[in-house]
Amino acid sequence: MYTDLKDQLTAELTAIEEAGTFKHERVITTPQAGRITAGPAGRDGAEVLNFCANNYLGLADDPRLVDTAKRALDERGFGMASVRFICGTQDLHLELEQALSAFLGTEDTILFSSCFDANGAVFEPLFGREDAIVSDALNHASLIDGIRLSKAVRYRYANADLADLRTQLEATRTQNDGAPARRIVIVTDGVFSMDGYLAPLPGICDLAEEFGALVMVDDSHAVGFMGATGAGTPEHFGVSDRVDLYTGTFGKALGGASGGYVSGRAEIVALLRQKGRPYLFSNSLAPSITAATLQALELVEGSAELRATLFRNAELFRTRMTEEGFDLLPGEHAIVPVMLGDAALAGRMADAMLEQGVFVTAFSYPVVPQGKARIRVQLSAAHTEQDVEAAVRAFVAARAAVQG
Ligand SMILES: *Cc1c(COP(=O)(O)O)cnc(C)c1O
Repeated sequence: MYTDLKDQLTAELTAIEEAGTFKHERVITTPQAGRITAGPAGRDGAEVLNFCANNYLGLADDPRLVDTAKRALDERGFGMASVRFICGTQDLHLELEQALSAFLGTEDTILFSSCFDANGAVFEPLFGREDAIVSDALNHASLIDGIRLSKAVRYRYANADLADLRTQLEATRTQNDGAPARRIVIVTDGVFSMDGYLAPLPGICDLAEEFGALVMVDDSHAVGFMGATGAGTPEHFGVSDRVDLYTGTFGKALGGASGGYVSGRAEIVALLRQKGRPYLFSNSLAPSITAATLQALELVEGSAELRATLFRNAELFRTRMTEEGFDLLPGEHAIVPVMLGDAALAGRMADAMLEQGVFVTAFSYPVVPQGKARIRVQLSAAHTEQDVEAAVRAFVAARAAVQG
């Protein structure tokens, strides 16, 4: 029986390899950090500067978090072996939920094993056939999948395009045999990860008000560092009180381990505890991760220094790369796309960068539009000024090597 399928899958894998889109994983033998040892599987790695992690605040190997995680292992054990509602809720889970609510300025928070799960949980219990979900075309895959799990009518608007958002919202007014949608939610990433662009939240909130819609922001690429206190893109734009629902991850700036959340209106969170399927049917966050993430949040709240370092590095990189004649997408975020256009060129550049001791990743179609291939650089507070300068020099040398 398997023989036929095996041949089909082998052919599919070969096609991926031939298309040049096969994802080969590099193996890291150090903690995640600004400087790591990494190499192809089965071979010795080399020390490289890492410019492609979501480790925005450099907390992934922070000794304070490691210590806290160790202490939690001693005091609260290794795992919960239960979902939250059976016997998987420790004091730590409640503390983290309360701390996040305070940090984001929301009424309540519910934890998940990942933000992927948070986005998989949030739509189905809240939105049914008579409702409307209006979603940005470039939203994260987990939002797209989560929205698919609900029976609501789906609307898609062009990336960050308020005119198109209005058009889609107008369509919700007649969706139920000429009658308006019962509930409407506008869903957007706070930051779009391939471009580093921010969602136009003030305009989105205005339209939401006009059309009686809720606003939901997945702030995974912003929580912990965007905004004056790190509370994310709604804070950055001064619209925190107009956002009804946040989702986000602990797997990026907030220590980078794992876990995610939905935060916002109390009744929504309460309903998700009763009906959110990834909450009801998937294991609780491990105690060590919960405790250390709680501390990551305290570190972020207690110091603006990490955020300042991150943005200083991002600005330095943008300035220096522009001086060297590279084509960057404009912006302020720590995601800095270096535009190369051609997919093969972007791939060769990334390889040449690695030879220069700098780990970056090339992205091409279908992840980004045809002809818009790029290297996505991600800055971190873990980088020193010298690291950033070394990355710029590596880009210059790689360009020379590739252009031959
Ligand atoms: C990274 C990311 C996720 C997934 O987060 P995990 O916790 O790793 O599952 C979800 N949404 C967005 C916008 C992301 O950038």
